[in-house]
Amino acid sequence: LIDVENLRKSYGETEVLKGIDLAVPQGEVLALIGRSGSGKSTFLRCLNGLEQINSGRVRILGEDLHYSAAGLRKMRQQIGMIFQQFELFPHLTAGRNVMLAQQVVKGIPRDEAEQVAREMLSKVGLAERFDAYPRNLSGGQQQRVAIARALAMSPKALLCDEITSALDPELVQEVLGVVRALATSGMTLIMVTHEMRFAREVCERVAFMHQGRIHEIGAPDELFEAPKTPELKQLLGHLP
Ligand code: ATP
Ligand code: MG
Repeated sequence: LIDVENLRKSYGETEVLKGIDLAVPQGEVLALIGRSGSGKSTFLRCLNGLEQINSGRVRILGEDLHYSAAGLRKMRQQIGMIFQQFELFPHLTAGRNVMLAQQVVKGIPRDEAEQVAREMLSKVGLAERFDAYPRNLSGGQQQRVAIARALAMSPKALLCDEITSALDPELVQEVLGVVRALATSGMTLIMVTHEMRFAREVCERVAFMHQGRIHEIGAPDELFEAPKTPELKQLLGHLP
């Protein structure tokens, strides 16, 4: 589904991604771990065209990513992204937040967009909160609205960048529960996460990023039980 070959990305003189190769088949759930600054967010942003790559190749369903307006629009319909900060529109209700992109990006009529929004909100357990404004929702509920909004575009894959990091500990599980259900339903997921236990239970592969490269990749049991590189050993050793 997503094929990356020798991807390089620099900001000015600084090369942040130094040749990444990764193939993610449809339905895979992949965790991306690594220290702060190792390039995890930059990598996800390159996968959905929020950043333009300097060299290498990113293909979605066999097609090269095009940075034209039309190319980006098409790709963002296929690849959804969810962020640490939920980035909902504060002046729109939960329902309208979920409806908006469908109407604007896909040109779907209002009635249909509303129907999809209700369906997606109920999928994340918020059927009753269609008319609620973000300020009246908990962080966990807001993040679930953000997930519903991404799902409303019927993406082929979802990129999640530390989506539970801004949440109070007691709200983390409700969001991870939604992600777990998505994983079970066959959604392709790439998630940057510090939730090692979750990564271990839910992900099929874990990729460890270090200094702009995928330093180690494999099944969660292998990586967590028997890390090969000193850098990964150190990262795991330092975790609480
Ligand atoms: P964290 O765990 O803290 O989120 P990360 O692995 O997601 O870290 P990135 O945000 O991808 O790391 O950043 C990788 C490197 O690229 C860092 O050194 C960062 O300072 C640099 N960087 C990221 N975005 C920019 C930008 N827009 N301009 C310049 N440098 C950037
Ligand atoms: Mg990051």
